[in-house]
Amino acid sequence: MESVSYSLPLRNRFRGITVRQGLLVRGAVGWAEWSPFAEYTRPEIDFWWRATLEAAETGFPAPVRDRVPVNVTVPAVGPEVAHRIVVASGCRTAKVKVAEPGQGFADDLARVEAVRDALGPDGRIRVDANGAWDVDTALTHLARLSRFGLEYAEQPCAGVSELAKLRRRLASAGIDVLIAADESIRRSGDPERVVAEHAADIAVLKVQPLGGVRRCLELAERLGLPVVVSSALESSVGLAAGVALAAALPELPYACGLNTATMFTGDVTASSLVAVDGEIAVRPVVVDEAGDWRAPAEVTAAWRARLAPVMAGCASSGRD
Ligand SMILES: [Mg+2]
Repeated sequence: MESVSYSLPLRNRFRGITVRQGLLVRGAVGWAEWSPFAEYTRPEIDFWWRATLEAAETGFPAPVRDRVPVNVTVPAVGPEVAHRIVVASGCRTAKVKVAEPGQGFADDLARVEAVRDALGPDGRIRVDANGAWDVDTALTHLARLSRFGLEYAEQPCAGVSELAKLRRRLASAGIDVLIAADESIRRSGDPERVVAEHAADIAVLKVQPLGGVRRCLELAERLGLPVVVSSALESSVGLAAGVALAAALPELPYACGLNTATMFTGDVTASSLVAVDGEIAVRPVVVDEAGDWRAPAEVTAAWRARLAPVMAGCASSGRD
């Protein structure tokens, strides 16, 4: 299978990186992306490969809508930059990163306040702590952030039991903040525990970590929770799979976290999957083969070497 690595600089540091890299592979249907983050290993990255194979060899299920609403993502930047990012996006929903290592809660408060100011009273704000808070800290911080009106808090604590406990304590304290599970869905190995323990109101689904669009559709049905489709910070080729999931879900009550191509200074296509007036159109992505997104040859070699045992393992276990 033909493959080549991309290397895309980020406008602002995000989840500890300043350059995103991944592998594009070409199958019978077209180009697909395989881009597990550097610290991920087998067997977790095998799921990412199943998603890649689906996109490259099978294609996506039929859409039921032709546009998907998306949020703007606000990294752990200062309030002025946060304000500017939100206004420039045209989106009516903002996802604000909080609990960034090296920052304090005052930074989070200032950022969320700036985003509320940029959106006005009708906009929606969700915060994402990536599991950084313990239950007591989450309760205290969400109580203070709730005055800005939160649509939900994504993964405020790391563990499923912690999320469940936090939900109970928020309810008994009369703090009206919904909880969304992200890492507890895609990295726990047991997404249904979130439902069994009543740990979340909303499920965040990401196509690559969960093994493909069809697997996500099946999981959404089993979970029975409203779904927010988010990206894994992919190029537009990878984003197309997320857009395909969002387009195929029977119901889509929340804006998706798929407008992340705007976080790069370039893309692998001349026509990025970015929002216009807060929505991404459901359409194919054409790779710009002459673009300057290609990583050096040694990067592609390293990605191919990382993929080789995954391909061998998936083939020998008879998986798709
Ligand atoms: Mg998240």
